[in-house]
Amino acid sequence: MPSFCTILFRKPQADMMFQTQECTSCTPAAHFRAHKKTLHFSFSFPTFLLYLCCCLLADPATGADKQCQISNFTENKLRNNKKKQYHMNDQDFMRMAINLSSKNVKNGGGPFGAVIVKNGQVVATGTNRVTANCDPTAHAEVSAIRQACKVLKTFNLSGCTIYTSCEPCPMCLAAIYWAHIDKIFYGNTKADAGNIGFDDSFIYKEMDLPLEERRIKAIQLLPEEAIKAFQEWENNEEKTPY
Ligand SMILES: [Zn+2]
Repeated sequence: MPSFCTILFRKPQADMMFQTQECTSCTPAAHFRAHKKTLHFSFSFPTFLLYLCCCLLADPATGADKQCQISNFTENKLRNNKKKQYHMNDQDFMRMAINLSSKNVKNGGGPFGAVIVKNGQVVATGTNRVTANCDPTAHAEVSAIRQACKVLKTFNLSGCTIYTSCEPCPMCLAAIYWAHIDKIFYGNTKADAGNIGFDDSFIYKEMDLPLEERRIKAIQLLPEEAIKAFQEWENNEEKTPY
C-alpha cells in the first residue's frame, strides 16, 4: 500500500510511457524505479482518498530497493539467451552442422551440412543440394560460403570459421581457401565419406599427377589469345584484387 502512494506522488516525466501491465510479484514503486515507467491504475474517488491518506503516512523509500522479479526475470532470460548464443562452443556449432546433414538426408539431399561462424555468431549454413538442385557444385560448404558472402556482403570471409559435417572435398577445400576462411572443423573423414560412396580420394590423387596422366584430359588451346585478358587485368588500375 505505501508503495502505491509513492507512485501517485511521483510525477512521470514527459518521455515516460504509461503501461497497463501490472507486475504481481513486486511493488509498483519497485517496478517504477526499476523500469522508469509508471503504472496505470483506475481509482474511484473513495479509494483515491484512502490512498491519499496512506500516502501521507508512507515512507517514500518503501520498496525502493526491491527488484521487479518478473520483469528482471524476463530481462535476465533475454540476456542469458544472448549470452548462450554468443558462448556457443565449437562442439555446439559442429552439432548444428551434423544436425543439418541429418535433416538433409530426410529432405532428399546428401548427408552433408556446414555452418559458418564469425565472432561466435552463425552467419550462414549450407547443405548438400547436388541432386535436389541439379547442381554438382552445391556441396554444403560451397552453399554455406555463398550464403555467408551474401549475408556479410563480401567476397572475403577472413575471421570466419567453417564447421562441416565431413572433411571437405577438393572443390570445397579450394573454395574455403579462396574465401580466406580462417579455420576448418570437420566431423566425418573423407575415408568415412568414401565408405558410403562419396569417394573423392581419386581427385586428390589426380591433382598429384602430371596433366598428361590425368583421367580427364587437359589440352592447352589458344594461349596467345587467352593471355590478353591477363594483360588487361594487370594494366587495369581499378581492379579489385582478391
Ligand atoms: Zn565438397
